Amino acid sequence: MSRKILVLGEARDGALRNVSFEALRAAKVAAGGGEVVGVLIGEAVQPLGSELIQYGADRVVIVEDDQLRQYTPDGFSQALLAVIDQENPNGLIFGHTAMGKDLAPRIASKLSSGLISDATAVEEIDGTLVFTRPIYSGKAFEKKIITDGLVFATVRPNNIEPLARDESRSGEVASLAVEIHTIRTIIKEVVRKASEGVDLSEAKIIVAGGRGVKSKEGFEPLQELAKVLGGAVGASRGACDADYCDYSLQIGQTGKVVTPDLYIACGISGAIQHLAGMSNSKVIVAINKDPEASIFQVADYGIVGDLFEVVPMLIEEFAAV
Ligand code: FAD
Repeated sequence: MSRKILVLGEARDGALRNVSFEALRAAKVAAGGGEVVGVLIGEAVQPLGSELIQYGADRVVIVEDDQLRQYTPDGFSQALLAVIDQENPNGLIFGHTAMGKDLAPRIASKLSSGLISDATAVEEIDGTLVFTRPIYSGKAFEKKIITDGLVFATVRPNNIEPLARDESRSGEVASLAVEIHTIRTIIKEVVRKASEGVDLSEAKIIVAGGRGVKSKEGFEPLQELAKVLGGAVGASRGACDADYCDYSLQIGQTGKVVTPDLYIACGISGAIQHLAGMSNSKVIVAINKDPEASIFQVADYGIVGDLFEVVPMLIEEFAAV
C-alpha cells in the first residue's frame, strides 16, 4: 500500500542527527513506494533540507521562526500540526530521542492517533506493515501492526540502517509560514555538560564503567580506550551514585538506552536495570574480576580479570592498529 509519510528531522548544533536518516529509512518502508516528506523545524534549518533529500526524502518542508530556535513542546507542536494540516499525511516517523519521546505522544493525542513508540525495525510482510519494539526492559520483542488510522511511530536510534547518502538526489525544499502563538515554556539558558567527542545515544562504540572502576580517576583509562576506538564513555548507575562520573552517562532502565555495535562493560556486575539499557547492543564485551558476574550471561566475549590490567592492554593493542 502506498502512503505519504512525514519524517521529522532533528538537528543539533547546526547538523542533522543520525537518527533522522534512520527515520527516513523506516519511512521509506512505511511509504510502500509512496512519498516521504522530510520536515525541519527551527531557526535557520533551511541548509539542512538537501541532506534529508540525499538520505531518502522526496521533498522537505521547512518551518523557521526565531521562537523555534530551541525545542519547546508548544512551539514545535504548533509548527508540526501546521505541516500536517497542509500535507495530510498517512503517517509520521520521529526519532525516539528526548525530543521525539516528548513530541510524538503530544501530536498523537492532538490527532487522536495511536503511536508505536521505540520501534527497532519496520518491515512489510505480505502487504502488512509490521513494527518490532522491545518490551519488559528489552527482555522480549513484540510485533505490532496498525489496523486503522495513521502510521505513527518513533524509532530507536542506532537500530535501522540509513540508506546510503546519494548526493545526486534532488527535491523541493519549501518553506511553510506558520504563525507561532504564545509559547508557554521559555528556555532561558541551556547548560551543557562538558562532554567530549561522540554523543552517547548515537555512539557506535561505548566503553562503560561501573562501580568496579572505583574512582573518578579510574575512569581515565576508559576514556582513553573510548578515544582510541572513536567511541563514547558510559556508566552504570552504581558508578554515577558513587560520584565517579556524571549522571548524564548513566545507561539503563532509568538512564539512556543504547544500541551500539560494540559495548565494553568494565567493572559492571550486570544488574537487570543496567541490562535494560544495553542488552540489545550488537556485540557485548565484559571485563570483570568475578567469573560469576551476571554481565557474562549477556556478553558475547568475556574477560575475567582486573580492568586496570585489561583496559591498558586493549588501549595499547587498538592504538597500534
Ligand atoms: P556493582 O553491582 O557493585 O558491580 C561492580 C562490579 O565490578 C562487580 O561485578 C565486581 O566484580 C566488578 N569489579 C570490581 N573491581 C573490579 C576490577 N578491578 N576489575 C574488574 N571488575 C571489577 N543501574 C544501572 O546501571 N542503570 C540504571 O538505569 C539503573 N536503574 C535502576 C532503577 C531502579 C528502580 C533500581 C532499584 C536500580 C537501578 N539501577 C540501575 C541499579 C542497579 O540495580 C545496580 O545497583 C547497578 O547497576 C550496579 O552498578 P555496578 O554494576 O556498577 O556495581
